[in-house]
Amino acid sequence: MVAREHTFKQSVDLMFERAAATLDLPSGLADQIKANNNIYMVRFFVKCHGSYQIFTGWRSVHSEHRLPVKGGIRFAPTVNQDDVEALAALMTYKCAIVDVPFGGSKGGLCIDPREYDEEDLERITRRFAQELIKKGYINPALNVPAPDMGTSDREMAWIADTYRNMHPEDINAIACTTGKPFSQGGIQGRLEATGRGVFYGIKEFFNHPQDVKDAGLEGNLEGKRIIVQGLGNVGFHAAKFLEEESGARIIGIIERDGAILCEKGFSVEDVAAYRAERGLAKGFPGATYVADGKRILEEECDVLIPAAVEGQITLENARRVKAPVIAEAANGPIAFEADDVLRQAGKVIIPDAYLNAGGVTVSYFEWIKNLSHIRFGRLDRRLEAHRGVQIIDAIEEMVGKPVPDHLRSKLSYGADELDLVRSGLEDTMSTAYQTMREIRNSRDNVPDLRTAAFVIAIEKIAQAYIEMGL
Ligand code: GLU
Repeated sequence: MVAREHTFKQSVDLMFERAAATLDLPSGLADQIKANNNIYMVRFFVKCHGSYQIFTGWRSVHSEHRLPVKGGIRFAPTVNQDDVEALAALMTYKCAIVDVPFGGSKGGLCIDPREYDEEDLERITRRFAQELIKKGYINPALNVPAPDMGTSDREMAWIADTYRNMHPEDINAIACTTGKPFSQGGIQGRLEATGRGVFYGIKEFFNHPQDVKDAGLEGNLEGKRIIVQGLGNVGFHAAKFLEEESGARIIGIIERDGAILCEKGFSVEDVAAYRAERGLAKGFPGATYVADGKRILEEECDVLIPAAVEGQITLENARRVKAPVIAEAANGPIAFEADDVLRQAGKVIIPDAYLNAGGVTVSYFEWIKNLSHIRFGRLDRRLEAHRGVQIIDAIEEMVGKPVPDHLRSKLSYGADELDLVRSGLEDTMSTAYQTMREIRNSRDNVPDLRTAAFVIAIEKIAQAYIEMGL
């Protein structure tokens, strides 16, 4: 592992301070916003196959200027308190940037989930959840976890069920987690949401010719050469939508076991299916394999998408990165000092706190759905479809000709939950990008998108604190 100059939390704090320095905030307020409010560390035992095993977990609450606080729970052997606090802080900023009315939180359990079978994992997850629920660190009104690295809809269902058993009187119990399976109160489109948000964010960047030109590129996403690091949930969906919906070419995929390259572009689905079968990217037909996968972060391409873990671009490799645009799909893939090096080299960084906010955005939709106890579109879908038919009938009557079938089916369609989620997500990602670039373009002391993103977050949170009278 490459030595990092600062811890993850210090790196996030330094980025925050750089942005806060451009603002005229009441004394002490920036420090209050930056600090993590509290963290709960828990150790517990679970009996696995006859032996007692001890586990350590954390849930950090960064800012409670809005409630509930929100953020994933990560299961990884490398999880530590500093990372959890950094990730909780990023959640606060992320929510503020995309206008999701939550504070920030994050949880982590030090475990390698691949070493346990499903039955053990369920017991461990439920036990961890009980500990957090007892202390108010999981609650639909106060603190709402979601999936993160090493967890999925399955763990969210276990946690929600644990909460419901402990609080059967809570009519909103199901809203205590998001990212649940659909049958357990989940929402359509949550699984793909972070990756889809990354896709919408990059697409929005290419909608601004001046931004594209400033990066030394031209045109739209069609044919652009893209390298993705990490084919987990976020990287897979981002790459898949870029390939299938914008015509970009995924020319490189960096995975744990090395990287694969293919100039004409991969079918992301095929690579994922191959990996699912063999557990490796190595040997994918028609691709060049590079054992030292991380070196491919330095390969020529138009857009580099680090979608794996934090601290991937550091002082050690930043100068060798050639991509003019780096789209941070992971949380914290670029360390603070590396960020400076890249910016001085004229690279455009689409920052994590904006770009991967699609997950929490759709989590917000799921939470609202759970609180309202009705699926989106249930009341108005048919009405919308009928109205479309009435418009078609009126057009046909007026012009005396039938509306062609392909238009008829589009016009007489009522939006379902997935349509509404995607529309809300696209709108959120486009609007937030436009706000970021507006701030960058209009303020002399805000030179880049990351500083602009932090400025948006700090201003919103500061205003909430000031208006609260705190
Ligand atoms: N774990 C995701 C993130 O880092 C989602 C958080 C959420 O939906 O609460 O953004």
